Amino acid sequence: MIATAQVNVALTIPKPGAFELVERPYPQINSGYVIVQTEIAPICLEGTRIWTEHDFEFHDDPDHLGHEGVGTVVEVNPGSNFVVGDRVIVFQGDHCGHCHACTNGMSPTYCDSNDPELVGAKKAAMRGIELKNNSASGGFAMERFRIAPEANLMRIPDELEFRYAAAANCSLRVGFSYQEAMDIKAGDTVLVGGVGFIAMGHIISAFYRNATVIALARNEYRIALLRQMGVEHIINPDDSDWLEQVKALTYREQGVDLAVDGSGVSYYQQKLMQAVRKYGQMNFSGHTPGSHVHLNPLHHVMDPARTIFGQHDVRVRDRQRLVRALMDGDVQRRIDVMVTHEFPMSRAGEAFELQASKACGKIYLWTQQ
Ligand SMILES: [Zn+2]
Ligand SMILES: [Zn+2]
Repeated sequence: MIATAQVNVALTIPKPGAFELVERPYPQINSGYVIVQTEIAPICLEGTRIWTEHDFEFHDDPDHLGHEGVGTVVEVNPGSNFVVGDRVIVFQGDHCGHCHACTNGMSPTYCDSNDPELVGAKKAAMRGIELKNNSASGGFAMERFRIAPEANLMRIPDELEFRYAAAANCSLRVGFSYQEAMDIKAGDTVLVGGVGFIAMGHIISAFYRNATVIALARNEYRIALLRQMGVEHIINPDDSDWLEQVKALTYREQGVDLAVDGSGVSYYQQKLMQAVRKYGQMNFSGHTPGSHVHLNPLHHVMDPARTIFGQHDVRVRDRQRLVRALMDGDVQRRIDVMVTHEFPMSRAGEAFELQASKACGKIYLWTQQ
């Protein structure tokens, strides 16, 4: 579709529990950037911390929301590597081309141009994209038209639907890229605790690699989703013998190869660290504001020779393999389970309320509706 509209429409959350769609000038772009007509903006933390408490990350605020998304290129500059009509995944944030992350195929989340401590909050990430393009709109995902740096776009193969491509943002991609980085493979045992959409992404990725999945979970709604995904081993972390139950599922009861925390709270984190075998891996993928975990370097890291690792995003070097995974039938079947609800952006309030209730998996907003 050709963009004929001369306005943009952005989603705002002016106060907790209330949203408003506002008109803004149509975006403008400099070289190196394109304008994307967004189709799906998956909901990340907008429906929990932001909707209920107005607790923002450094890169968003009441008037600027959303970082995940897929859509169609509607405007390019001369010499662009993209053409109008290309369907693309937008990987959030900007690209400088010079920093450690950019020169090592790492993720844009770790590009210096997205670091508010290095460049200042107004110049960082999506705000910085608006500033560099001298544009009054378009830096963010929950807008009908979005500006994206070409270096952080990937063309979507014709046969891949938007709704599967959208899992290349904060759901499947985090676990997928982590598991690439740490070389999780067939026969490994992956334990997840605190199951939201990030942990579900880890589960989908672990199945794709033919690993065995074990979940520590209490939320009945989400347990039902895990069963639909094919998770056979679901253990209640309140059981007094939860650790014996986990270890009984591992080779020679030595503990799991990888434990993933999706909760961000010490209740799960402490348990997960206990369940990791010697020389195994502990991944922190969840964050809850104000929460801390007790970590004794000798006891938790040196004695068991464990690796502790965390990252937010997909590395550039993993993008192609991620898209190949998204084209896999079993991955798509599990994404269909993970994405429990889809709403038009005009009904975003219902979507945010639902996410706050936790009776959901991943929720998509269709931004043109
Ligand atoms: Zn960079
Ligand atoms: Zn996110």
